[in-house]
Amino acid sequence: MSRPVRVRFAPSPTGPLHIGGVRTALYNYLFARKHGGAMILRIEDTDSQRFVPGAEEYILRSLAWCGIEIDEGVGVGGPHAPYRQSERRELYLQYARQLVRDGWAYYAFDTAEELEALRRDAESRGEAFAYNYAVRGRLATSLALPAEEVEARIARGDQWVVRFRTPENEIVQMHDLIRGEVEVNTSTLDDKVLYKSADALPTYHLANIVDDHLMEITHVIRGEEWLPSLPLHYLLYRAFGWTDSQPQFAHLPLLLKPTGGGKLSKRDGDKMGFPVFPLFWQSPTGETARGYREDGYLPEAFINMLALLGWNPGTEQELFTMAELIDAFSLDRVSKSGARFQPDKARWFNAQYLHRLSDPELAAICQPHLRAHGVEVSDERAGRAAGIMKERASLTTELWELISFFFVAPTEYEEKQARKFWKGENPRILKELRGVLAAIDDFSQENTERIVHGWIAKRGYPTGQVMNTLRLALVGAGKGPGMYDVTSFIGREETLRRIDKLVDTLQPFE
Ligand code: GLU
Repeated sequence: MSRPVRVRFAPSPTGPLHIGGVRTALYNYLFARKHGGAMILRIEDTDSQRFVPGAEEYILRSLAWCGIEIDEGVGVGGPHAPYRQSERRELYLQYARQLVRDGWAYYAFDTAEELEALRRDAESRGEAFAYNYAVRGRLATSLALPAEEVEARIARGDQWVVRFRTPENEIVQMHDLIRGEVEVNTSTLDDKVLYKSADALPTYHLANIVDDHLMEITHVIRGEEWLPSLPLHYLLYRAFGWTDSQPQFAHLPLLLKPTGGGKLSKRDGDKMGFPVFPLFWQSPTGETARGYREDGYLPEAFINMLALLGWNPGTEQELFTMAELIDAFSLDRVSKSGARFQPDKARWFNAQYLHRLSDPELAAICQPHLRAHGVEVSDERAGRAAGIMKERASLTTELWELISFFFVAPTEYEEKQARKFWKGENPRILKELRGVLAAIDDFSQENTERIVHGWIAKRGYPTGQVMNTLRLALVGAGKGPGMYDVTSFIGREETLRRIDKLVDTLQPFE
């Protein structure tokens, strides 16, 4: 009988979560939901050297913003708690010892200086030093030293590590759900460190395998950069006698730079002007990085865009809600080759979602921006203004610029537009238009338009010039929606006030 699906997202809190990491979390989540399984969040913080305060909290906030729900794990709890590896540290030593006892691992006492000397020595011969079957029998290891000496060294507090005793010249056959069969000869591998007495902590490999086993993980879905570790992980499952319950593996393709060449890095974002992190990040030392949220992206659009970077539905459909993604997702449609990140496509996705927002949803987005500019208005008016202008925006951060004139009278006039229209007959015609507008009781869009156009036709004025002069008064520039959208929104009194202000403050051009 197949076991219930259990997947995990297992980030190390070494900094902000890169969008590649968010995609890994997303694919795990989609897979879990699709199969009615559980999504587990485990924090792999056994590398104390690379630990960054605030990173774990950032990961939790990012996943929440993206709508990636955690069923079990850090921040949620569950039957396998704790889910933070540093809090499980006591657990791992017995597993390292078990491997030594069963002949799958050994103690090594080499100091950092000794290892460095070995490395330099190999280099001087034009070789790379590998800690493996060829050398472990003649170095300071429990394979070479007499048992009493090993015990004596441990007892007197010498520092030691446990290394995996990688078999010599054996073919490990592995299966990857995305890449198919993979084979590696064990002689190409070195003996990885599994446990260090210096900080009484396991390394990634040991903690990861032990926890995946104890947490009953059925599928490991992770980035391609972990594929080289897969042979060791297979060997570890075998060494522990856990092969029968070993998870299936799927290694996701890399996210590539927009130019296609190489992995998308943190620096690419800064260089090319787009974020590579979901949320704004500030490191403990004060460095900052921009985030999709703060740059004006909607989480639904961000997720939709990420889902299609490395997976395709097999149809032309591009827009997916989370529920639709869950329904459509399958690992066999994840590509083997890297997915090129396209900043323009990210904007396009966001525009699609932004244009579909209702006025109340837009109001919720715009209100903080309005308040930040000292504008206090009802949600109804905020939403209506944004609703009129939303088609011209791709990012939510562009909305304020687009709607500000609905709430704030122009304080200056765009020179190009003023030079073009604030001259000749136009100032006089605008004053005449003021009189027409002042006499309109029903200031609705349709009624105002009907009356103004009737007046223009009767007087034989050039419509474009009249409207552009009015636009200069109401918006202060050549931009904006239809003029009657503006007049009906700001109302008669404000319309007249803005006309008066232009007339009173700007000298007509020659
Ligand atoms: N802690 C590893 C990372 O940071 C997890 C890799 C895995 O999923 O096995 O990505």
